[in-house]
Amino acid sequence: MKYHLGLDVGGTNLAAGVVTERYEIISRKSVPSGAGRSLEEIVRAMADVSGAALTAVGLSEADVEYWGIGMPSYINPETGLLVHANCFGWRNVAILDALARHTKLPVVVENDANCAAYGEILAGAGKDYDNAVMLTLGTGVGGGIILNRRIYAGADGMGGELGHTKLVYNGRQCTCGQYGCMEAYCSARALAGMTREEMAAAPGRDSLLWEACGGVPEALTVRQIFDAWEQKDPLAEKMVDQYVEYLTAGMSTFITIFRPEIIILGGGVSNAGEAFLEKINRRLGAQTFAGMEIGVPRVIRAKLGNDAGIIGAAMLRPRKQQSIKKRK
Ligand SMILES: [Zn+2]
Repeated sequence: MKYHLGLDVGGTNLAAGVVTERYEIISRKSVPSGAGRSLEEIVRAMADVSGAALTAVGLSEADVEYWGIGMPSYINPETGLLVHANCFGWRNVAILDALARHTKLPVVVENDANCAAYGEILAGAGKDYDNAVMLTLGTGVGGGIILNRRIYAGADGMGGELGHTKLVYNGRQCTCGQYGCMEAYCSARALAGMTREEMAAAPGRDSLLWEACGGVPEALTVRQIFDAWEQKDPLAEKMVDQYVEYLTAGMSTFITIFRPEIIILGGGVSNAGEAFLEKINRRLGAQTFAGMEIGVPRVIRAKLGNDAGIIGAAMLRPRKQQSIKKRK
């Protein structure tokens, strides 16, 4: 049996796993990312946690062919430069060189949202489909495009950044510096932020949201917004209605371009419950080109949680091999 080694690098945790050919994780290890530490320290931690995942099941680097890593960033495959990773404050870092000092294995790096989408297609919510769009609605909005069961990342690997597609011309400023990105409206952070603004502007304090956050809007969580929405709190209903309008508007663009078979939702917001998912599905047809006549793909919830990123990273190689072959 062949084994694969995958590492999902997040702002909070470095999660490594040993994955079988059947996409089962037989060993996993996780440590805090320790953002704020030096590049060298973090890279060493990445290698250590991955090595620990191997040794926990009696394996070593000799038992895997490569090390697949999903990172919340963009790596230029031509130069090997990590262009930026917000969670670590890294800009133009020679990440592949840094990693090479800690392993003899070939290293394959891919955007983490692409890895999550790939993991879901291989072994999760998308395993019965060949073409999918995945959106991870968390602190940001991660995007992954799967075409014919492969990650689509464009000519230079930077494609599929769906969270940074323009949703509102000249709109709210995004974490990327641009204005009006989908992420500035559809991330969990955006939903909480826009709700806090609305609370600050509201004359009364009769919304359940005030009670939920103990009178401190800064403490308000997305979970509390959805709880209040389920209890039909008018302010929460207004904010969730608005959120679904933005989200389905963004999704309608992706459907119009790619016509995927399915849209997979991951991240914290995707756990808001079935009623929320149904609301999105109801609204999506009306928002999408010819949606009422010919229908739209269904929006379903991701299945693998954090495992998707590990599995996707571990199984990256086939895609890379193919793309290298094509380039020659
Ligand atoms: Zn952006």
